[in-house]
Amino acid sequence: MATAPTFISQTGTLQKYFALEQKGNIIAEYIWIDSEGGTRSKSRTLPEKEEPYKPDELPIWNFDGSSTGQAPGDNSDVYLRPVAVYPDPLRLGKNILVLSECWDSDGTPNKYNHRHETAKLMEAHAAHEPWFGLEQEYTLLDFNDRPYGWPQNGFPAPQGPYYCGVGTGKVVQRDIVEAHYRACLYAGIKISGTNAEVSAQWEFQVGPCVGIEMGDQLWLARFLLHRIAEDFGVKVSVHPKPIPGDWNGAGLHSNFSTKEMRVEGGMKHIEEAIEKLGKRHLEHIAVYGADNEKRLTGRHETGSIDQFSYGVANRGASIRIPRECAAKGYGYFEDRRPASNACPYQITGIIMESIFGAV
Ligand code: ADP
Ligand code: MN
Ligand code: MN
Ligand code: MN
Ligand code: MN
Repeated sequence: MATAPTFISQTGTLQKYFALEQKGNIIAEYIWIDSEGGTRSKSRTLPEKEEPYKPDELPIWNFDGSSTGQAPGDNSDVYLRPVAVYPDPLRLGKNILVLSECWDSDGTPNKYNHRHETAKLMEAHAAHEPWFGLEQEYTLLDFNDRPYGWPQNGFPAPQGPYYCGVGTGKVVQRDIVEAHYRACLYAGIKISGTNAEVSAQWEFQVGPCVGIEMGDQLWLARFLLHRIAEDFGVKVSVHPKPIPGDWNGAGLHSNFSTKEMRVEGGMKHIEEAIEKLGKRHLEHIAVYGADNEKRLTGRHETGSIDQFSYGVANRGASIRIPRECAAKGYGYFEDRRPASNACPYQITGIIMESIFGAV
């Protein structure tokens, strides 16, 4: 059994260093997505500017892709092309977070760069004004990979009091959730809310975001979650079924609407879209996250993995039309299939492709 960390980041002690002058420099934290669906990052110094840096004003950088499973050892350089810039809630001041796409040295997108194709789809179909809202569920683990706060041996009391729970014994590590919420707001992430799920599991929502912004913002929010949990000595798992048995899995419910769906008569467009999604169920499942078959069992508020279904207010279906939207006759729908570890670029990309066609 691994021993607990001997220290948790002394963020308080750090404050006096954070007050030091940066002497005309800023720190840019370049962030990218690795081969395992995690985020990686490294920092560099750039001259401070009056106006905030825009992505195309930032230098292209590179990293050793053989260390991240993104390139072979004999041709290991992978290039980082900045695509979005955010104020850094960890370093404050004029320091920035730089979300980057990965490109190979031959000028093609890296195998794990799912943003490039999705950005093209969003561009091609921009006239429909696609809005997305993603619900990221995640589980907090201790140093022994046990859900945080669970007894060393055995299990906590069965599901029931935890969802949106308040009080000791019902939720754990609320400080991480609070810190992450504030950090997202500071960075300009459209975080729309948060709630407790089953024991040691939480959720936050990002959206509505337009087009490619959805993937960018969710990845940045994931980076911040891992980085902040690091300060607390806690691990974040996005595995869709972290605990086998009678415990809810973790999903990434994906809410979607277009300009046409959001106005009177929109239900016709919603139904047409759902029909198109149903015809490509397996293609969607293929990019909706690894190990999703452990979660989409038809139990625990999920639909079955090998059967497409939809319904109003039905949490046991692949697609749910919220009751309020059905009553109004327009609004949005929720694709409940994506797993918590799925890539938001792949989810939003295939939704666009299935409804509006490939580019
Ligand atoms: P649930 O009831 O499934 O738990 P949540 O409140 O957790 O739903 O999340 C709903 C998500 O849907 C939010 O991210 C919200 O921003 C997003 N959303 C709301 N309206 C729309 C819309 N018209 N189009 C796309 N997403 C939307
Ligand atoms: Mn080195
Ligand atoms: Mn939710
Ligand atoms: Mn949820
Ligand atoms: Mn939901």
